[in-house]
Amino acid sequence: ATPTAIMVGTGRGAELGILIKSGEALEKTCKVDTVVFDKTGTITVGKPTVTNILSNRLEENVLLKVVGSLEQNSEHPLADAVIREVNLRKLDMFSVRSFNSITGEGVTGTLEDTPVGDVEVIVGNKKIMDRYSINIDEHIKEGEELFDQGKTVIYIAAKDTYLGMIAIADKVRESSKSVIEELKNIGIDVIMLTGDNERTAKAIAKEVGVTRVIAEVSPEQKYSQIKKLQIAGKKVAMVGDGINDSPALTQADIGIAVGGGADIALESADIVLMSKNIKDVPKAIELSRATMKNIK
Ligand code: ADP
Ligand code: MG
Repeated sequence: ATPTAIMVGTGRGAELGILIKSGEALEKTCKVDTVVFDKTGTITVGKPTVTNILSNRLEENVLLKVVGSLEQNSEHPLADAVIREVNLRKLDMFSVRSFNSITGEGVTGTLEDTPVGDVEVIVGNKKIMDRYSINIDEHIKEGEELFDQGKTVIYIAAKDTYLGMIAIADKVRESSKSVIEELKNIGIDVIMLTGDNERTAKAIAKEVGVTRVIAEVSPEQKYSQIKKLQIAGKKVAMVGDGINDSPALTQADIGIAVGGGADIALESADIVLMSKNIKDVPKAIELSRATMKNIK
């Protein structure tokens, strides 16, 4: 490839808001045959909101206050959703000690000076509830209905007592469906990769026309799933925005970070979409294809 062609290509990318970090990245992008998308914040907007609260033992606002107290220590988009709801309802919060976050599962900590003294609280998905042997059967049916609506469910427990669940919904990006269709039209396989529940992921995937879903994966598993595709001979682009995506972004042949995402995701990527819009994914591939065609 001539340096001039590469320079023109990366320059054209920059004009479009597609930041291509190296000539090599531009050259490699035309070979991509598989695009793997993170769900939360990539296919969806990443601004989730609380939609349902199911609480059998505590008043709804008290449950929300319990969850919010823990989540104010977390940087997860789900935590933002909870905090927004807490603020909307003007609830105050408990102070927390021994906060701990388990990536891809949830958070734990001890609430101080509650009406019943100090209380250990666990908040997160089924994995973390299983880890602490908490039975969530009480709301299993309701949970499944929420999953099928594409909502993410977080369960709440105090010590070994299940307290209830909160459902959180994140809107699909306006462009997601057409972007995925466009990629398929130019011969690319599309896969969704997410730490979220399988049923939730499948509901979102259906909405945007993705048929291959890999769900309930940890950040390490996101990385190994990319590797698995590469071992099978695929040339893989990974598109993501989160801390949890960065090992996968690094491993992929081309890592594409959505602008505005976590710093480490932006650093791990070969291409950054300044527009924060995944509509630039097919554009980047087409730009690379056009550049390399001119070279040959
Ligand atoms: P994604 O791949 O969708 O960005 P993550 O790996 O960040 O997902 O998280 C996977 C799952 O772990 C979430 O869907 C949620 O169930 C749970 N989880 C992670 N962090 C938190 C948190 N702070 N509060 C509650 N649940 C959490
Ligand atoms: Mg994400």
